[in-house]
Amino acid sequence: MKMANFLTVEDSPQLAAGSFNMEQALRCPVCRAKFRRTRECSRCGADLSTLMILSVKAMLCRKNARKAIHSGEFQRAYDLATDAQETHATHTGRQLLLLTSWLNAEL
Ligand SMILES: [Zn+2]
Repeated sequence: MKMANFLTVEDSPQLAAGSFNMEQALRCPVCRAKFRRTRECSRCGADLSTLMILSVKAMLCRKNARKAIHSGEFQRAYDLATDAQETHATHTGRQLLLLTSWLNAEL
């Protein structure tokens, strides 16, 4: 079985550039303002760097879970999908978790 090359936070040029698309799901934890792709909340000035890092980490876990599915590593895919949901839950992440759960149970 071929092992997939998994991505890490360090592999994300989007994180380094601060230019990834996650504002739809995120709001400032202090004032609930919509996320506007900045490390500082535009309304209250809260530092959102940790939030951005966690969101990118979850995104990379989901990407690696998809790679694991393609290489037949269903337990690894399930573990990665679970990690992603625990880090930053999204609707897509929930769907991926359900898929990997089913693959693990059926195959
Ligand atoms: Zn705020």
